[in-house]
Amino acid sequence: MAEERETAAIAGRLAELRRRIAAAAGGAGRRADEITLLAVSKTVPPARIAAALGAGLRVFGENRVQEAARKFPPLRAAFPDLRLHLIGALQTNKAREAVRLFDVIESLDRPRLADALAAAAEREGRLPRLHVEVNLGDEPQKSGIPRAEADAFIEACRRRFGEALVGVMGIPPLGADPRPHFEWLAACARRHGLPVISMGMSEDFEQAIAAGATEIRLGRILFGERPAAAPLPSGAGTD
Ligand SMILES: *Cc1c(COP(=O)(O)O)cnc(C)c1O
Repeated sequence: MAEERETAAIAGRLAELRRRIAAAAGGAGRRADEITLLAVSKTVPPARIAAALGAGLRVFGENRVQEAARKFPPLRAAFPDLRLHLIGALQTNKAREAVRLFDVIESLDRPRLADALAAAAEREGRLPRLHVEVNLGDEPQKSGIPRAEADAFIEACRRRFGEALVGVMGIPPLGADPRPHFEWLAACARRHGLPVISMGMSEDFEQAIAAGATEIRLGRILFGERPAAAPLPSGAGTD
């Protein structure tokens, strides 16, 4: 019963979010069905993820390999059309497990990680789709390739991974006007012919849609506030 109540609560929030997404898309002369809603389920227990699946959500994002490995295999077995994205910093020593577990890895942000993913894909016989993550504010504590290196890194990844490289991902600096950052990232994706632009979170998804986002990543606005001890959106990419 608790799960039914939870499903109804998430379905209610989802209906309101779909209205806001449609309005933001319409305001930008875009169609709402161009925009994928990725449900960010980090720190969310499996029962609530199951409730979100009951409400119709199918695309989920986690920021830690270990947590995703604990929570998702049984849910995937029950919902074969579930899609799982890695949106957090990835250490090279976890590349192989990430390649096994995720459909999309959005946090490809440095040459050493590209090497590790290529080796892991070779070993596993499986290559997830990839996004290059850009450190939009060039903030030292955040992951992502610096803006100035993004074009060369994207070209190198395209040569190496071909069509598996589908998009970009970025998070504007906290407290800044996100719009110029979103516009920069969208222009970067277009210059490289990459179809997927992953940007916009609970606080700024409407501005992201106005700037061209094709995927928005929503956590708190769907599932409620995370526990205070939850990790920050983007940790340092340590190896
Ligand atoms: C946590 C997280 C989100 C979701 O943030 P909310 O503010 O809860 O919507 C989106 N993207 C990344 C990379 C995150 O780590």
